[in-house]
This record gives sequence, C-alpha cells and structure tokens, in this order.
Amino acid sequence: MEPTPQTDDKPTKILRSPACAAKLLRAGKLVAFGTETVYGLGADATNAQAVAGIYSAKGRPSFNPLICHYPDADAAFAHVQPTRLAEKIAAACWPGPLTMVLQRRADCPVSLLAGAGLPTLAVRIPAQPLAREMLKQAGLPIAGPSANRSGRISPTSAAHVLADLGGRIAGILDTGPCPVGVESTVIDLSGDRPVLLRPGGVTREALEALAGPLGAAPTPGAAMASPGMLASHYAPALPVRLNVTAPLAEEAYLAFGPAPADRLCFQLSARRDLTEAAANLFEGLHWLDAHAKGAAGIAVAPIPDTGLGLAINDRLARAAAPRG
Ligand code: AMP
Ligand code: MG
Repeated sequence: MEPTPQTDDKPTKILRSPACAAKLLRAGKLVAFGTETVYGLGADATNAQAVAGIYSAKGRPSFNPLICHYPDADAAFAHVQPTRLAEKIAAACWPGPLTMVLQRRADCPVSLLAGAGLPTLAVRIPAQPLAREMLKQAGLPIAGPSANRSGRISPTSAAHVLADLGGRIAGILDTGPCPVGVESTVIDLSGDRPVLLRPGGVTREALEALAGPLGAAPTPGAAMASPGMLASHYAPALPVRLNVTAPLAEEAYLAFGPAPADRLCFQLSARRDLTEAAANLFEGLHWLDAHAKGAAGIAVAPIPDTGLGLAINDRLARAAAPRG
C-alpha cells in the first residue's frame, strides 16, 4: 500500500516532550506515543484527514474502529454516555490498560472514520504519565491503534516504532519500554450485558469482580472483525450500486472526481485523492442516506483499488452487500 507522506519527507523525530508531541497532534500530524500497554499511533480523532493518515501509514486494508485516548474520565465521558457500571469500572481501572465501548453522545466530535461509522466509541485513559500529559496538552481525543504496520507485531519501544514507521510519521514520544506489553482489555458496555471483546492488561477476573459474569468472549480475531463485519452498521437504507460511471436517472451519486450536475451528489474527493476520500466516506454514506430519500438508490463512482482505496472499497462492498 502506498503511504501518504505525513511529514513532507522529513525524518521522524524522537520526542521527549509531551508539549512538542501535543503541538504536532494539534497540527493534524501523526505522532506515536508510549503507553503502559504498547506504543499507539496517535492522530486528532476529530480530524478525519488525520485519522485517514493512520490507516494509510499502517497500510491497513480495512477501517477498524480505533480506540480514542483521553487524559481523564471526565474528558472521555463528555464524548460517550457512561452507564453506572462504566463509572464504577472507570473508578477502579482508570487510568490503566482498559478500554470501554460505550454509546457516542449526540454531539460527540470524534470523526465517523475514527469510529468506523459505528454508533459506539471505544475510550481509554492510559496510565503512562507522559502520555497523559500529552493528551492533556493536546486537549483533543487522540485516536490510537498500535503503532505498527498492518500485520506486524505491536511495538513496545520507540525503536520498534522507528524501525516500522520511520519516515511515515511526524514523531514518536519516547516514554521508554512499555511495562505491560500487551494491548488493553476491551469491554463492551454499550448493550444490556457487559461483553469482553478482547483480553488484555486488566484480567477477566478483576472485571467480573466489578461487573459480575461477562458475556461470552468471541473467538480470537472475532473481536476485531465483528464491528467491521456488521453490514447493517455501514449499509445505508437505500440500495448501493458500485463502480458506476453513469448513474441512472433516479439514483443519487457518491462521486470520486467527476460529478454529474443533474442529481444529488456527495463528493468524496474532487481531486481524486484517496486520503481525502477515506476521510469523507462515512460522512458521505450518512449524508446521502439522510438527503436522498426519494432516490431509487446510491450509485458509487469507481475507486482505484490501491493504497487507501482498498479499505474504502472494503467498506463500500459491505454497504452494497445483500441485506440479511
Ligand atoms: P487496536 O486498534 O489494534 O488497539 O484494536 C482496537 C480494538 O478495539 C479492536 O479489537 C476493535 O475491534 C475494538 N473496538 C474499537 N472500537 C470499537 C467499537 N466501537 N465497538 C467494538 N469494538 C471496538
Ligand atoms: Mg494492533
């Protein structure tokens, strides 16, 4: 997958100062940062272009929902709706290696791309003091999957990140080796019953002591796959037709480049830029669904199957899949 240059080809800087890292994040750059679990690849979660840069730098072929990092529980709960159980778990486990999935608030400013279009959002407060200081100074939710290229091992030192992503990202906040070294535990509290989505730094036993019995853990890989596999989360109400250069008279159009003037269109990227298109994708599907009610369907322009186009086409294929 072709990377999108984030740094105007400048080498990746090793940073010791949370303030410098926060400044780069505020400017829409990608900055890896150490936490107690593994190094995360951070970007301003409210900036869909910056979030698209994460997928591009990692070479991810699909848009998985990303965990948003906050300096404290108040900041996190301003963007998601805490349940009583979530507040109890937060008091016991945050800051720390625990991620909670909760319903987004209506005014949540996190880009739809960071949440992969889901109505829920995964939030975490890392315990690493420099990382928390960076988050505080950034004053933004920071989306952060592990700071490795897709399919490679999660990094537990700045040197690992540099070896894998050097030249593709603006900086790395070096917080030394990660003491926990495995990813955070992910618990889904957005439904009726708490479900352990991914085992990690906080044990199941510790969580069951707080929450009671947890719903069945999905088989390995399913936690990653399940949010992305739920076609209904991505499918607009209207039928979707792919690879269309000449939409039918009664169809609305999701354009990439040329856009017909005689119908309702949402433009992913007039200049055919895949990073811009990825940033606009979920917004476009939601917008057309809300505004094209009288249309027979949504026709989608052909998107090249290179770079971020792979992830865009993966999502579009789900949106166009037969409804179950
Ligand atoms: P990573 O980005 O590698 O740290 O992985 C993040 C994990 O959190 C994956 O297992 C995701 O599937 C999971 N995750 C993130 N957001 C959500 C969400 N809204 N609902 C369910 N799982 C989520
Ligand atoms: Mg990972």
